[in-house]
Amino acid sequence: MRRLLFATANAGKQGEVRRLLAGLPFELAFPSDLGLDLDVEESGASFLENARLKARAYAAAAPGFWVAAEDSGLVVPALGGEPGVLSARWGGTRDDAAHNALLLERLEGRRGASRAARYEAAVVLLDPGGAERSFAGRAEGAIAESPVGSGGFGYDPLFYSPELGCTFAQASAADKDRLSHRGRALRALRVWLEAAP
Ligand code: IMP
Repeated sequence: MRRLLFATANAGKQGEVRRLLAGLPFELAFPSDLGLDLDVEESGASFLENARLKARAYAAAAPGFWVAAEDSGLVVPALGGEPGVLSARWGGTRDDAAHNALLLERLEGRRGASRAARYEAAVVLLDPGGAERSFAGRAEGAIAESPVGSGGFGYDPLFYSPELGCTFAQASAADKDRLSHRGRALRALRVWLEAAP
């Protein structure tokens, strides 16, 4: 069976990837399964560039594997697109609670449309010969006035989805998968892998 290394160490993302890529004719592995823990500098200016950096670094370390990597984050137009590619390390920390506190602080006093936000995801797939394909997904929403819910991860307690009528942290895993940026990008990846030569 062909082997697919999905290059993320984020436990929240791993769960989503496992669910959304289940049943494909690929044996799915994560970096820790191969004893890999690469520190890839995410210096790209876009989610796509950062996903490509991660995919190429892991492909070099795992010859013979198909490799997929994902980069994603929250984009708030009223904040000039922040936190954007800095989502995981916004404000100089990797702490989700600190990120959410900073987001509320930066949006204080803003109402209605100026609380609009979206999640974006880019996925890069490299075949064992190095040929690249990319997939993208978006989820539109708004930043809530205070965190609600305990599911998901990261900014989910503040990410209100109008389609669901609740935050992503209140949504079931199935509902988040259906509507999320990563759900959309991973389904496109899945369709491509189902027919992969
Ligand atoms: P990455 O692992 O470098 O792609 O960073 C992604 C960061 O964006 C995460 O650490 C979160 O802060 C944020 N993020 C991306 N997707 C989600 C999501 O589905 N829910 C909550 N936060 C997310």
